[in-house]
Amino acid sequence: MSQSIQGKVVVITGASSGLGEATARLLAARGARVVLGARRIERLRSLVEDLVRQGGQAMAVATDVTDRAQVANLVDSAVSTFGRVDVLINNAGLMPHSPLERLKVDDWERMVDVNLKGVLFGIAAALPHMQRQKSGHIINVSSVAGHKVGANGAVYSATKYAVRALSEGLRQEVKPWNIRSTIISPGAVATELPGSATEADIAQGLYEFYDANAISADSFARCVEFAIGQPEDMDVNEILFRPTRQV
Ligand code: NDP
Repeated sequence: MSQSIQGKVVVITGASSGLGEATARLLAARGARVVLGARRIERLRSLVEDLVRQGGQAMAVATDVTDRAQVANLVDSAVSTFGRVDVLINNAGLMPHSPLERLKVDDWERMVDVNLKGVLFGIAAALPHMQRQKSGHIINVSSVAGHKVGANGAVYSATKYAVRALSEGLRQEVKPWNIRSTIISPGAVATELPGSATEADIAQGLYEFYDANAISADSFARCVEFAIGQPEDMDVNEILFRPTRQV
């Protein structure tokens, strides 16, 4: 499988922690050239140092996915450094759950800006390169919450349902350029995500749920490895997974 990962140029948003970081580590170990975007550039730089020390090829680009020009710069940097972009993983996201009646409108906006518009900006940045190359692979991160709505999660779910809808439309439209499109929808995975909750009581509940249920971020990275590692004529459309103990 690693044959088809070796040498691929993979851009990952939200690579400074959690799922993005775990994916960067696994893909770099499989020989991919990884281009890492997030706002916390120091964390990205030390991750890159780590990967390079282990023989990998990696670079860091400070990126706020709510800024279209910064996302374009991330993907363009991959192309100018490595000559192409084979895979874009639109992974950056946050989950500040709350009941709608608390009117946490700033959190609603941030979720739409990062979880949905950030994905759109990623597609806008990568698509012209992939069309020119006549190949590419866009992986969008949804969630179990993109399949069902849970307590306090209406807006988060709305963004994750939207990511699935968008990805399905993308999948159908990019056939002429031989571009693959994958949705990955994880259940509870141990990352910094519960820390994005801004309401203390909700954060507490999330930490308890994650402590009881979450599995390692490597689970997600292995899904990415599987999707990317298939032969070019196979398009893995969606992977939905949960911890075995999660309902
Ligand atoms: P983390 O909080 O560990 O990581 C989130 C990442 O997103 C960080 O690297 C953060 O980087 C980045 N990010 C947040 N805002 C921005 C921004 N404006 N611009 C650029 N990057 C940003 O959580 P996860 O790894 O768990 O989350 C990754 C994705 O997985 C999210 O889309 C999340 O919704 C999804 N997911 C996670 C699940 C889980 O249980 N962990 C389950 C289902 C889906 P920085 O702050 O440095 O910018």
